[in-house]
Amino acid sequence: MCYSAEMLKGKRVIVTGASTGIGEQMAYHLARMGAHVLITARTEAKLQKVVTRCLELGAASAHFMNGSMEDMALAEDVVKEAKQLWGGLDMLILNHIGYTYFNYFDGDVEHIRKLLEINFLSYVAMTVSALPMLKESGGSILVVSSKAGKIGIPFVAPYSATKFALDGFFSSLRQELIIKNISVSITLCILGHIATETAEKTVSHVMQKPGAPKEECALEIIRSGALRKRELYYPYTAVRIPLLIRDWAPEFLDSLTRNSLNVENVKKS
Ligand code: NDP
Repeated sequence: MCYSAEMLKGKRVIVTGASTGIGEQMAYHLARMGAHVLITARTEAKLQKVVTRCLELGAASAHFMNGSMEDMALAEDVVKEAKQLWGGLDMLILNHIGYTYFNYFDGDVEHIRKLLEINFLSYVAMTVSALPMLKESGGSILVVSSKAGKIGIPFVAPYSATKFALDGFFSSLRQELIIKNISVSITLCILGHIATETAEKTVSHVMQKPGAPKEECALEIIRSGALRKRELYYPYTAVRIPLLIRDWAPEFLDSLTRNSLNVENVKKS
């Protein structure tokens, strides 16, 4: 299968966490391709602006729903809204994340519980609600994850736990869909450092290299979903090579990972 932007024309797509960052850029790409978009996040004013821009860029339609994904009822309501608006769904892009710190693990178990709800359980809840429509359309689920969801990276223990959980759940579900001959693809997107506002604020002081562009990253995610790829690695070498080393020389990779960070810039608590 060859990719073309036409593949997304008229498709009905939910993008979560689309008020800023990579999610916002995905909404703009989808709009330029002529898709229908339903976007989510907490901040209504930002979502309203993104919807307006999507319509200017050529979206077939653009809507938003705001609220926190700590609330599983919201996760389900977003999918119900898609059914009401369009009568079906072609692509579910799960991208939002809750706030977390970038530092030594502080022992706060409640924070991990809350983050698991936002970053993991709401993804599962949306998938469960959306599967009937996706089965009908032969659609796709795109799960935005991270290098920290495949390898041990210091200072992100709570976040990393939620991203590893996504790999376990969605890689298992993908196998079951294949066994049952259900034509719904699952693409796990493994991202390295991307220059979004949030990443610049939280991690740039520890990174030795600048982040990759969010616009290109957003397009690669959509492209890999349209092509029904199993996994995306972006930026390719920065993500794929550590994953290839991981199972052969884990201690070497651990040491490479520590040495690739300006650890001295992380405050010791
Ligand atoms: P951003 O912080 O820019 O965007 C996060 C989005 O989630 C925003 O729209 C935010 O909007 C929304 N959000 C935050 N809290 C909640 C909540 N409680 N309920 C619902 N929505 C919420 O993130 P990025 O664009 O940087 O990251 C996007 C994805 O890419 C994430 O899955 C992230 O893990 C992954 N990734 C990013 C990397 C990077 O370097 N940037 C690296 C690896 C992976 P609002 O605040 O209005 O709710």
